[in-house]
Amino acid sequence: MSKRTDVNELGEFGLIEHLTKDFGLKNPSSFKGIGDDAAIIRNGDKLTVISTDILAEGIHFDLMYTPLKHLGYKSVVVNVSDIYAMNAIPKQVTVSLAFSNRFSVEALEEFYQGVKAACDFHNVDLVGGDTTSSLKGIFISITAIGEGEKEKLTYRNGAKEGDILCVTGDLGAAFLGLQVLEREKQIYLSSPGVQPDLGSNEYIIGRQLKPEARKDMITDFFPKANLIPTSMIDISDGLASELFHLCKSSGLGAILEESGVPIRPDVEEQAINFKLDPITCALSGGEDYELLFTVTPSDLDKVKYLPDIYICGEMVKAEEGIKLHTKGGNIHPLKAQGWVHFGND
Ligand code: ADP
Ligand code: MG
Repeated sequence: MSKRTDVNELGEFGLIEHLTKDFGLKNPSSFKGIGDDAAIIRNGDKLTVISTDILAEGIHFDLMYTPLKHLGYKSVVVNVSDIYAMNAIPKQVTVSLAFSNRFSVEALEEFYQGVKAACDFHNVDLVGGDTTSSLKGIFISITAIGEGEKEKLTYRNGAKEGDILCVTGDLGAAFLGLQVLEREKQIYLSSPGVQPDLGSNEYIIGRQLKPEARKDMITDFFPKANLIPTSMIDISDGLASELFHLCKSSGLGAILEESGVPIRPDVEEQAINFKLDPITCALSGGEDYELLFTVTPSDLDKVKYLPDIYICGEMVKAEEGIKLHTKGGNIHPLKAQGWVHFGND
């Protein structure tokens, strides 16, 4: 009998490594291949940055509480976020869809209204895609293409020992927004007459349904401060998981300061209402689409005076591991629990 290995034995990243290990790069124009937020293609002096993502119904979104317009918007945002994470500027997207006959023209129009709003906000052009049918559900595959300057492009592997760890915005809110939406869905399913109680959860629900990529950092704040991070990644799977990627790629460890992890007081309160630890939501919740990056210590002043950037730790030698320094003064190993998407068939 031939061997059958469950993909969960390898995990998402183990699987990607396993499947792609025999693929070298043949073309000199393939400047950066697998392993970062985006690939880089180099033609002469021109550097093109490219990233692609799939969103699958029932895995990445639930149409019971996700308006199609928001879904269109978010599908573009999650892709341009990977381009920004390279310190590059997105310019084009392609949008490919597979959908069942459950979706009407009007429904798809709504989705495209969201795509349009995101394209307008991020100043990107829709330049192509593909359209096909599926037996069940809708699948969205978007590719974002951007431009970067060689001296400015920022990789996951560029951090150095002693570099300062920084994060933008605030974390954990999108995950909590999802908890509220899931809770209201369950209530609705058990008693359909009941109106959803979204209460004062507008911020966290907005973070889940209509996230925003940090265009402002890349096109405005960083260039104005003359700041080029030494390494960078966007936070799609939770701070802990992304920090593991930065550390692994850069061959380093890190000390993360709990006190430096930005969590809004109202978000903290919502976490407690859900009997969840706020720091766990920030570390292991996903979909914040903020940026995690490192800067060289001499750039500390540049970071200090920029809005919405928080210093949250330091890169250390690999032997020191990846640790969390809690507000209570304890130091323990950080666990990376990003999202796992391999469900049962
Ligand atoms: P992100 O979370 O930033 O979108 P991923 O974790 O999806 O990044 O991907 C990590 C790296 O692996 C990227 O370089 C991506 O292009 C690559 N990758 C992911 N899936 C595949 C695949 N099926 N085949 C080849 N490369 C892949
Ligand atoms: Mg990414």
